[in-house]
Amino acid sequence: MSYTGTQTLGDIVALACRKRQVKLRWWNQEPTSGHMSIERITETWCTIQSRSHRARSTTRTTARKRKVTHCMTTSIQTSVHLTNVYELLVETYGKPQWVPDNDPMGGLVGTILSQHTSDINSGRAYHHLISTFPTWEEVRDAPTDQVATAIRSGGLANVKAPRIQEALYTLTERQQEQGGTKPLADFLYDELKQRSLEEAWQYLRSIPGVGPKTTACVLLFDMGLPAMPIDTHVHRVSRRLGLIGPKVTADQAHTLFAQVAPPDWVYTLHVHLIRHGRQVCHAQKPECEKCTLYSQCAFVGSVNPQETSLR
Ligand code: SF4
Repeated sequence: MSYTGTQTLGDIVALACRKRQVKLRWWNQEPTSGHMSIERITETWCTIQSRSHRARSTTRTTARKRKVTHCMTTSIQTSVHLTNVYELLVETYGKPQWVPDNDPMGGLVGTILSQHTSDINSGRAYHHLISTFPTWEEVRDAPTDQVATAIRSGGLANVKAPRIQEALYTLTERQQEQGGTKPLADFLYDELKQRSLEEAWQYLRSIPGVGPKTTACVLLFDMGLPAMPIDTHVHRVSRRLGLIGPKVTADQAHTLFAQVAPPDWVYTLHVHLIRHGRQVCHAQKPECEKCTLYSQCAFVGSVNPQETSLR
């Protein structure tokens, strides 16, 4: 095999996999993206060879075979397609900086407030809430109707106020069970910081009223963990591109992207798919004629979604 010094991880892994018939679940563990040195390419190739050998060995044992088969859910075409989409998005919109704010409590409340309303309205509601109640403990202990009044500009205030307070009560109970006395904001940060991505995901999901999108937003934007929030734009554009199948729900898409997207691509994919959905791939009348992803889009027939979709 001949390699140039400008091949990307996607190129090299796709080539390696075509040679070895290796499926790409392993790619998740290769965090590097962008152009690779020859040393890095060689290292990646060796890793794939060695993993390929290990995978073949596992076929001797039924139990292990089941485990490996379970992990290898992603086809070669799927990951090559995702690579192509990722690279076109970066070419089109550049590489955004991923700077988490380390404030998961604020992120959690802010994301609850953002449900079913615009960013402007939810931002206004958030600022009014924290100016009325300067600490999360005060939000927790306030009469619910006063919290609802404070967040009225964000819409659905009578639903969101008890939801926010319930989340705060739940975290308070968890801290009390551990005998802790920290401010809630510090408690949540410390709890998430000490957990793996999957554990942190489960921790947040077990808080009443906290769904997959809210969880992913907190982990991505506030904790710097590679969870992929699937909002309406990401969901629509991903389906049209053939990244996910037509019947895959937004909730299911969180898991599918987590299985396939390299960790350091997640923030870029999320931000740019939203941007593309807002600016070009509108819900009504997508502007396909000026779309830079045209060559990778199932909606216009450039790729076959049965080959490219994660599911
Ligand atoms: S080609 Fe059209 S449908 Fe496909 S991603 Fe672009 S704008 Fe959306």
